[in-house]
Amino acid sequence: MNANLICPACGTQYPEDDVVWRCRCGSFLDLNDTFTCDPSRFRGPENLKRYASVLPLRNPSSAVTFGEGFTPLHPMVFYGIQVMAKMDFLLTTGSFKDRGAFLMINKCRELGIRSIVEDSSGNSACAIAAYCALAGIRAQIFMPAGNSSAKTVQVRTYGATLHKIPGNRSDCARAAEEAAGESYYAAHTRNPYFLHGTKTVIYEIMEQSRWEAPDYIFVPVGSGSQILGIWLGLQEMKRSGVIGRYPRLVAVQSEHCCPLKNNREGKQTPELPASPLLAEGIAIRIPPRMDQILEAVAQTDGDVVAVSDLDIVEALQASALQGVYIEPTSAAAVAAIKQYNGRLKQSDRVVVSLTGHGLKASARMETLINTA
Ligand SMILES: [Zn+2]
Repeated sequence: MNANLICPACGTQYPEDDVVWRCRCGSFLDLNDTFTCDPSRFRGPENLKRYASVLPLRNPSSAVTFGEGFTPLHPMVFYGIQVMAKMDFLLTTGSFKDRGAFLMINKCRELGIRSIVEDSSGNSACAIAAYCALAGIRAQIFMPAGNSSAKTVQVRTYGATLHKIPGNRSDCARAAEEAAGESYYAAHTRNPYFLHGTKTVIYEIMEQSRWEAPDYIFVPVGSGSQILGIWLGLQEMKRSGVIGRYPRLVAVQSEHCCPLKNNREGKQTPELPASPLLAEGIAIRIPPRMDQILEAVAQTDGDVVAVSDLDIVEALQASALQGVYIEPTSAAAVAAIKQYNGRLKQSDRVVVSLTGHGLKASARMETLINTA
């Protein structure tokens, strides 16, 4: 595979072997590659290495792995609507971010990188810290000071160096970028390899659905690392003739931080408060890849939806009453289905992405349930 990194802003290309994490113009980089999706090549055990033919790794067989992947696609009912829940909170560190970390950290290994810097609201940090522990790479993680203590503890226990930054996610990103210096800024919000890892979720959903595309996929969106991964995978499948149409991608945000909806309405997104939002995992005021997210939504005839905290708590409880304990950020995607009540046809196949484990937010949830 001869891939290049390409800047979507100015078109400059860099050899894939260059240890470069941003363009000289300041933009993030994308991978200039076109994978062919051939389901007959997806063989072997049910883990991420199964998709080696569509992953940008030089030597996938030597990738470090927990044997992750193939989370269940589980039938659930929300607001009287039958949906299939993709249970990615069951991945090793408790969130879908393991998919991105698997690819990005293995790419770092291939490039000989020994130390990385990352900023995160929590789940990405946990995933990256765990894969760095597995790969023997030093990780420095920048997190907002007010975030869920469970995630903070998890990151530190994996052996990462944790920097707690006063302020919000934007303050964190700035601090990490400054600290990166000559090191490698493995930002899940910008790194193209992270997205090629998260795209494995749509390969699994499609394989688990016998390659019949769903009609809707509801996804919580902060920096967009899952929806953009899904979009990458869907384009590969359509280009390869494996699917004839796209599922509608519904990007879900909290009404306290909904830059996608605001963008559509021509509004600015106000500064976030220093204290974390209920759906802290998607509290990104200015997603670096916002234009690409909006493009994915537009190209799939999808939608952007903002949900209230009240609806998030209701969705979280509705999920738990079916035995599925998810964190509030995941419950946001469920809550969006409520807004589709009456708009979905009986025959529509709906997938909702359950991205993060409830155990990570138990302390917060205790307060919510007690006051509900
Ligand atoms: Zn550039």
